[in-house]
Amino acid sequence: MNAPLLSARGLRKEYGKADALVRAVADVDIDVAAGETVAVMGPSGCGKSTLLHVLGGLDRPNAGQVTLAGQRLDELSERGLARLRRDAVGFVFQAFHLMDELTAVENVELPALLAGRSARAARRRAMELLDRTGLRDRARFLPSALSGGQRQRVAIARALANDPLVVLADEPTGNLDSAATLEVLRLFDGLHQAGQTLLVVTHDSRIAATADRLISMRDGEFTDETRLTGGTTGSLGKLAGLES
Ligand code: ADP
Ligand code: MG
Repeated sequence: MNAPLLSARGLRKEYGKADALVRAVADVDIDVAAGETVAVMGPSGCGKSTLLHVLGGLDRPNAGQVTLAGQRLDELSERGLARLRRDAVGFVFQAFHLMDELTAVENVELPALLAGRSARAARRRAMELLDRTGLRDRARFLPSALSGGQRQRVAIARALANDPLVVLADEPTGNLDSAATLEVLRLFDGLHQAGQTLLVVTHDSRIAATADRLISMRDGEFTDETRLTGGTTGSLGKLAGLES
């Protein structure tokens, strides 16, 4: 078997100490293959966001290791870790986290500019991505002039700016209505079809249904793992039915 693209062993993240100690992630192992879409579900407070943060190098674990494309994150300096986050990981958050004073296209091109791409190359890439997310005609809008679903599609385009090895999404539809959820769902499904490796934390069973694998989490631990069969076409077929 090929080495997984993203893997963790004995991953643990704790907050606080002594009586107030919270073990947000408790000795978790995970392997995500290249091209795989994995969904993580579980009740609020079970450690899903903490898991994503530690897997994506936004936070360091108290114990255990994360390996992304053969690179152990614990062996990286802060600077190396920042570079890895910028170049190899795309983050999508529930609350979008766009820069309010930048237009859609400026938000999307920012990671490429920070990575040292030329202004022209970064702009070209950003426009391509806005095209792909159906927002070309909104490129010069500020986030405040966009709907929630449009903002999240800008955030997804931004996450793709540097062709990340993996996209980590934390309840990406948590702030969206049902129509906008469907748009994001379609976008993720397209990424999945295109071979993008994707780890999605979600409360939405429709999003989870498009994954290759579903992990259930509770109290910092994985309680169940299911390989989903039928694939994305089936679930999108069902969605088309729901819409009409
Ligand atoms: P989820 O995303 O599943 O809702 P989180 O990963 O946000 O769960 O939180 C897991 C646990 O860790 C919760 O008990 C939460 O209160 C705690 N926690 C999360 N972040 C912090 C923090 N920065 N400081 C202290 N406790 C935290
Ligand atoms: Mg969370």
